[in-house]
Amino acid sequence: MRSLRTKMVMIMVLLILALMTVVGSFLINGVGNYYIEEFYLQMEQTFSQDFITQLQDLAVGPDGPSQMKQRLMSQSDLGIDLSRRNVYILSSDGQVLDSSNKATSVSMTANLLQAMNGEVGQSGSIASSIMDLAVPIERDDTHYIVYILDNKETVNALTGRLFSIILQSLVLGLGICVVLAFLLSQILITPIRALTTGTRQVAAGELSQSLEVTSRDEIGMLTRNFNHMSQVLQSTISQVENERNKLSTLFLHMTDGVAAFDSTGHLIHHNPAASRMLSRELTGEDTFAAVFGEDTSFDSLLSLKRSEYLECQKRAGERELELFMAPFSADKTGGGVMVVIHDVTEQRKSEQTRREFVANVSHELRTPLTNVKSYAETLLDAGDDMPPELKKNFLGVIVSEADRMTRIVKDLLTLTKFDYGKMEMNLTRFPFAEAVKNVHQAVALDAKNHRHTLTLQCPEDLPCVNGDRERIEQVIMNIVSNAIKYTADGGKIDITAGTKGKEVYVTVTDNGIGIPEKDLPRLFERFYRVDKARSRESGGTGLGLSIAKEILNQHQGNIQIDSVFGEGTSVTITLPVAE
Ligand code: ADP
Repeated sequence: MRSLRTKMVMIMVLLILALMTVVGSFLINGVGNYYIEEFYLQMEQTFSQDFITQLQDLAVGPDGPSQMKQRLMSQSDLGIDLSRRNVYILSSDGQVLDSSNKATSVSMTANLLQAMNGEVGQSGSIASSIMDLAVPIERDDTHYIVYILDNKETVNALTGRLFSIILQSLVLGLGICVVLAFLLSQILITPIRALTTGTRQVAAGELSQSLEVTSRDEIGMLTRNFNHMSQVLQSTISQVENERNKLSTLFLHMTDGVAAFDSTGHLIHHNPAASRMLSRELTGEDTFAAVFGEDTSFDSLLSLKRSEYLECQKRAGERELELFMAPFSADKTGGGVMVVIHDVTEQRKSEQTRREFVANVSHELRTPLTNVKSYAETLLDAGDDMPPELKKNFLGVIVSEADRMTRIVKDLLTLTKFDYGKMEMNLTRFPFAEAVKNVHQAVALDAKNHRHTLTLQCPEDLPCVNGDRERIEQVIMNIVSNAIKYTADGGKIDITAGTKGKEVYVTVTDNGIGIPEKDLPRLFERFYRVDKARSRESGGTGLGLSIAKEILNQHQGNIQIDSVFGEGTSVTITLPVAE
């Protein structure tokens, strides 16, 4: 690459060369032509008709050629000078009869030939090495030719001198030009260099460039534009960066998984949610087929329109996933496929739970209803034939089944209120020990009926708690009732209350039937019972623990069940102490 400076020097040199060549050749040509014209003008003036007549007179006289030569040499305005301009007297056939320089022959020229033909030969050209004039002198039978020959020495000497002057000025001009070109290029190059460095830095990402504007010319304007451009670029890039950051933050934290594949099916982007949902660490090596299987054709996805998408289901370990797949560019080669992964496990679970719940409710209500119906029908059919004792017994069953249904409906209503946040709480500050003691008193008779040994350990100075006393007592009651229910008669039930840090607790321990380990996690599910028949027999609905858990949640409390199957159960509830 040639630098701007070299180019400028070359342009200047070429310019000077061209200029000097044109001027030089015009000058040299002009001088040459001027001399030729001068020569012929001089000849024309000299060889007037009078002068020719004089020459004709001399020609016919004795020793004509010599006389003519003398006359011509004495004619001062002919400028005969032996070294450069000579006069020749020729015969009509071109023989030299006499001459000023004693030459015996002359070269044949166009002018001479013309004079031989009887006409004056007076044409000359710059290209010719001589200037000549041939005038025929004729009278009667006498035919001579006067021939003036100038060897152009003066012209040549002058043009030679001119040439050397032009050459010298050319050399000098070139020297000045080179220096000027250097200086000029320096003025131009300095800001251009600064601009070059600036653009290089901008290209390298240093956008805070601001160059000094040193002139008000085009380069100054260019520098100003460059500064403006880098400012605009900086603000545009920072806007784009902000947008990208926003998107990547969204991408990073969105709960749905997103995975993007290029047109060859290789993974190009994914967010942490995608890895989590698919239960595998995604890498750039992964392909669409490896991640989502071969069921969906990647090519058919690529050929979808941009507004279209494909929806399908996938199972990843325990998770149920819903996939929405769509191409992100109409261009098959440059685009790819975006997959949005939606985790529907919880949704499916809750749908399942709802279905099970409805089935459970129907089942739980159907059994007592069937009983009521069959006992009522028997009573109706038997009429007065039935002994009053049996009748009473049957009616008792009907009432107890109706009570059971009422309990179920009441419990369900309580749970529904919790579900919809409509449960009204009667919040008070009350001593926890009193609530425990109340429950102890209430169940004492029931425990006695089952011959259980019921103990209570409750310090008097237990702190107060904030909450709905009635509901908290309901929870403790439910736990103690369960201990009574699920312990064979003559068992041992201990109620222990106390404080632990900023919490109060009550633990109900029994030595009853216990709960198998596999059932422990499901005890708080609605209608879940380990032994349905036993629960039903003892009047349980399977909703007690669910309600207890909901009530404790409302009070920021907790419930924990530990049990060994066949040995006994220990249930602990904790509640935060009132401030
Ligand atoms: P239920 O009305 O059936 O008692 P709960 O929700 O109160 O319903 O209890 C759920 C199930 O947990 C019971 O059916 C029973 O199988 C089991 N359970 C609760 N407490 C005890 C306990 N102290 N000993 C053994 N099993 C228990």
